[in-house]
Amino acid sequence: MQNDIQEVLYSEEQIQLKVRELGAAVSRDYEGRNPLVICVLKGAFIFMADLSKNITIPIELDFMAVSSYGNSTRSSGEVRIVKDLDNSVEGRDILIVEDIIDSGLTLSYLIDVLERRNAKSVRVVALFDKPGRRTVDLNADYTGFSIPDAFVVGYGLDYAEHYRNLPYVGILKEEIYSNR
Ligand code: 5GP
Repeated sequence: MQNDIQEVLYSEEQIQLKVRELGAAVSRDYEGRNPLVICVLKGAFIFMADLSKNITIPIELDFMAVSSYGNSTRSSGEVRIVKDLDNSVEGRDILIVEDIIDSGLTLSYLIDVLERRNAKSVRVVALFDKPGRRTVDLNADYTGFSIPDAFVVGYGLDYAEHYRNLPYVGILKEEIYSNR
């Protein structure tokens, strides 16, 4: 698995430090509010687990799975809800936990869905951001790392369902996906 990685961008230790900072910021901002924290599956599952351990205020957790049509490394923006939330979001403060923002299309779709369901507030925490790739005007309220336009895997992020279990995040060698 390691042989398929061109370059490690962030080590496990660097990610843990950043997740601690994000957890502290969320805990401070949501003091006294009991937000519903929503994990966008599957990519955000490790980030959600680590982030939630670093949030020191009462929260509730829920999970949503989306899939976007497109090729294996680029989303098309046509998003489908594969697994919906168990909880109602009406009147709730919502924090969406996302692995990475690329075009922004997935998130803008999700935010729209949650606002139409009458959430009281919707904010986003994203561990990784590729601001250079944005096609819609959207920014996370909390961002871990801004990264260049490269396809990354690890720490929950996959290519064809592989590499999610890498504890670090790295750039996948182009030869792995270019001839598919
Ligand atoms: P967007 O809708 O912002 O273009 O894409 C967001 C989703 O595409 C992310 O939640 C993630 O699942 C996937 N994605 C975008 N960039 C990458 C990347 O570099 N690596 C991986 N593994 N997935 C990515």
